Amino acid sequence: MESTAGRLASVLQRIGEVATGAGRAPEDVSLIAVSKTFGPDHIRPALVAGHRIFGENRVQEAMGKWPDLKADFADTELHLIGPLQSNKAKDAVGLFDVIHTIDRDKIAGAVAREMDRQNRRLRLMVQVNTGEESQKAGIGPRDAEQFVARCRETHGLDIHGLMCIPPFDDNPGPHFALLAKLAAQCGVAELSCGMSADYEIAIEMGATCVRVGSAIFGPRG
Ligand SMILES: *Cc1c(COP(=O)(O)O)cnc(C)c1O
Repeated sequence: MESTAGRLASVLQRIGEVATGAGRAPEDVSLIAVSKTFGPDHIRPALVAGHRIFGENRVQEAMGKWPDLKADFADTELHLIGPLQSNKAKDAVGLFDVIHTIDRDKIAGAVAREMDRQNRRLRLMVQVNTGEESQKAGIGPRDAEQFVARCRETHGLDIHGLMCIPPFDDNPGPHFALLAKLAAQCGVAELSCGMSADYEIAIEMGATCVRVGSAIFGPRG
């Protein structure tokens, strides 16, 4: 199956199979179709096929394509899965429905202020740098519980879950397991983990949303 709609259907079917095999309900795992770098002509077939959950990693890029797409498909849910700068918080809160990458107080505060100003309630997740990689965004695993508490108490944010991107060369399983353990400690239910290469493992380890790009839209240029 070469079309976007065909690949989307295959991934959805596989998610269902893996979830069922792991004793989970397929509807407990949502598929975020990651459309970064792809233009509206590539995204529309997935919308026309009925998919409504999409992810982008850059605010600026998303601003260039999603206002029009959301106008045509109003029930679309857009997820920010890339790093957020505080000077982009206004645009991000205006456009996105879910942010996966809250990872420091400055961003937590900026998002909280913008949600108040715009009277919008987004679902929020905290990104955890499970591999403790210096170049990667996310709060360190040891600081995650305290940071989630500060998001709630200091910034008044309702945190729904945790997100991670394992180191490229690592076996992802232990990272997903660590994320699940931290989520239980923090008292949050959502686990955003798993990409094209490892979403099956992520589902077996409890992911509630997987972020899949190239397996749906094809290789990025
Ligand atoms: C690009 C991206 C994905 C999707 O990656 P694929 O390997 O194409 O599935 C998932 N999560 C994040 C944070 C990304 O930036």
